[in-house]
Amino acid sequence: MRRILGIIVVAAIAVAIAWWIAGLTGHFAATIAGYTIETTTPVATLGLIILVVVIYAVLRMLALLVFLPGRMRRWRTRQRRDGGDLAVSRTLVALASGDQGEARREAKRARRLLGDTPQTLLLSAESGRLAGSESEATELYRVMAARSDAAFLGLRGLFRQAMERQDWAEAAILAHRAEEVRPGAAWLREERTLLAVRTGNWSQALLLAGPGAPHVAYATAAAEAEANPDEALRLAKRASKEDPGFAPAALAYAVRLRAAGKEARAQEVLRRAWVASPQPALAAMALARTDDTLSRVKEAGRFVADNANHPESRFLLARMCLEAGLTGEARRHAEAARQAGLTQRRVWLLLADLEAEERGDTEAGRAAQHDALRHAAAAESDPVWRCDACGTAQLHWAAACPTCHAPGQIQWRSARSSIPTVSPAGTLIELD
Ligand SMILES: [Zn+2]
Repeated sequence: MRRILGIIVVAAIAVAIAWWIAGLTGHFAATIAGYTIETTTPVATLGLIILVVVIYAVLRMLALLVFLPGRMRRWRTRQRRDGGDLAVSRTLVALASGDQGEARREAKRARRLLGDTPQTLLLSAESGRLAGSESEATELYRVMAARSDAAFLGLRGLFRQAMERQDWAEAAILAHRAEEVRPGAAWLREERTLLAVRTGNWSQALLLAGPGAPHVAYATAAAEAEANPDEALRLAKRASKEDPGFAPAALAYAVRLRAAGKEARAQEVLRRAWVASPQPALAAMALARTDDTLSRVKEAGRFVADNANHPESRFLLARMCLEAGLTGEARRHAEAARQAGLTQRRVWLLLADLEAEERGDTEAGRAAQHDALRHAAAAESDPVWRCDACGTAQLHWAAACPTCHAPGQIQWRSARSSIPTVSPAGTLIELD
């Protein structure tokens, strides 16, 4: 509507001007190079208008011819850029959907149209990796690593490849170079932590670990590996303080305290850990310096005093009493452990030993032993160090699972996922 109105207004103005020109009076005469032109004013005005339009059109034509090559060049550049952008988008989609052929084709096209930019080099390298050509990707990452505008991307790619090859030395060099190019990058910090875990560099892992990382496991392992006694003591103390019930941390701390001649403090750390979460290695270390079997019974009694009703405490006392030949006491403690929910194989094996000790090689003794062993065969298996991530049992505790490499996942677990246990107050609770 507005357009129609505009056309009407312009037409009206044109008609008005034409009307005005047609109404002009007078005479026009001009002499150019011997030629004389004589006409009326309206015709002369019209001729002038036509002349101006023709000159304008000729100048435009000339300008078009002069600027045509530049325009053509710009047009071609735009076409290439648009085509390149489209190829980049298509490569990204192909990479996301795992289409190797399409990704390589489009990455090649993007590189041809846009040249070697960080973006096209990265896409070509990733497409090469998707197609299984690691060497092609390595070559491209190296090209990027040498360029100032793509160095981090190149080093990142090379680092990832080194980690996958498990070439730890090369990965460490690349991580160092990447850190220089882009200090404090969050991704690099995570990868360096992973590298530290895979190479068993626990102090480094502890230093780099962010919130939510298994700090206690790292500090414990770092203390175990540390050669400097003071530093080892500091690390073990930190781990034990953060989680007093974590047996490996308590053991690492107690070992260092014992080495430093602080036996009373070592015993206290072990006792505190036993109260929080009883684990046989704690008792073994606490009683390691006592040889006499009767003294060991007394020591064990003192050691478990603050958590005496726990089935693990009862079981420990039963074992110590049996070693000292106190079969009556041993039976009492073993039965108490069983009543409190400890029905694992080790309890039945202890009862079998008890029958052998008490009744000797008699018919009744053999029958009782046989009965206990039958129970042992069918009983729940004993607790072991087990990885919560992959479920495999491990001989020893480690900061990272030797099977799946997950850090901080190895825990003292029975075959069942939940183990019955007794709190220091004596109430039966279920621990997961
Ligand atoms: Zn595992």
